[in-house]
Amino acid sequence: MGIAWSRTVLADERRLSAAELARRVAAPGFGEVTTEHVVSCRWSAEREWHDAEVLPYQPVPMDPAMAGLHYGQVVFEGLKAYRQPDGAVAAFRAVEHAERFRRSAARLAMPEPPVELFLESLAELVAADRRWVPADDSQSLYLRPVLYGTDASLALRPAAGYRLLVLALVVENFFGTDAPPVSVWAGSRYARASVGGTGEAKCAGNYAGAFAAQVEAAEHGCRQVVWLDAAEHRWVEEMGAMNIFFCYGDRLVTPPLSGTLLPGITRASVLALAADLGLTVEERRVSLADWRADATSGAMTEAFACGTAAVVTPIGRVVERDGGFAVGTGPVAGRLLAALTDVQRGRVEDVRGWRY
Ligand code: PMP
Repeated sequence: MGIAWSRTVLADERRLSAAELARRVAAPGFGEVTTEHVVSCRWSAEREWHDAEVLPYQPVPMDPAMAGLHYGQVVFEGLKAYRQPDGAVAAFRAVEHAERFRRSAARLAMPEPPVELFLESLAELVAADRRWVPADDSQSLYLRPVLYGTDASLALRPAAGYRLLVLALVVENFFGTDAPPVSVWAGSRYARASVGGTGEAKCAGNYAGAFAAQVEAAEHGCRQVVWLDAAEHRWVEEMGAMNIFFCYGDRLVTPPLSGTLLPGITRASVLALAADLGLTVEERRVSLADWRADATSGAMTEAFACGTAAVVTPIGRVVERDGGFAVGTGPVAGRLLAALTDVQRGRVEDVRGWRY
């Protein structure tokens, strides 16, 4: 598309010292450690995408009447970049993330950032903050594009102006390293998404709406929430901000993309890699009752969740209001985790063109 970039990159003497950088990334957790630059780009009907910039990381000004703040016209993405064995940096499935960003924007009546702009933004940011890309296997560079309506107007209509920001953060695996299988809360008080709603979009409000359920899960000693469908409170849809898989020996089952769950890029990757590992895959609905019965009988051998942040995380126990049940653990989650991280970290040939 040939957008012109302006770059204001910190001079070496204004950057963090190597020692300070090492201190910041020693135990980064997930979400606290931002790098030293940010990408910004603006959109208006007259000028389309313009003012693409790389800037030193800094607060952004906001009008108190900013549309995105009041009406939630905010969509985002989350993907990871990994240091490769030859020192290069590769983002995982960046094109697919760009395409989902466009679908999320369209759902919220926002302009769809071109795929090329999305990819260029990642490349510009990683070039400016290259020394932040971890070499350590337990860490990665999490890239967070976010698009929001900037109009200073409380009129209830789609904003006329937008800003795209791209941040980078050093993160470790969401559940920490060597995470044991997680316990998950299956309550029916809250639902994440309903038919015709925004469940398929990665919009900010979906996450705000999930926090009360997450608090409820923690009150029951669980790390995550199992989302059931909103109409019948019967069908398992997702887990927290992850997609879910069930294993029946070598047979992998995952809920279909019904319109109410987020089409995870990790989910799509697991489906593809499973075939390479000789597993069969089936997209069909599984009820909480099926899960309980099959886990208890032993027919269901494992269950795991997957997403960019969590990668592949086994589920050890489901807690319900009046009880709960254990879920077996087996080799499948670990095999898929290894296959996935091998592609992400450049340890195997990129036969599907997933590294950007
Ligand atoms: N479901 C929800 C609700 C999510 O927020 C995420 C994280 N983006 C996922 C599933 C997993 O998606 P992905 O594999 O693309 O990270």
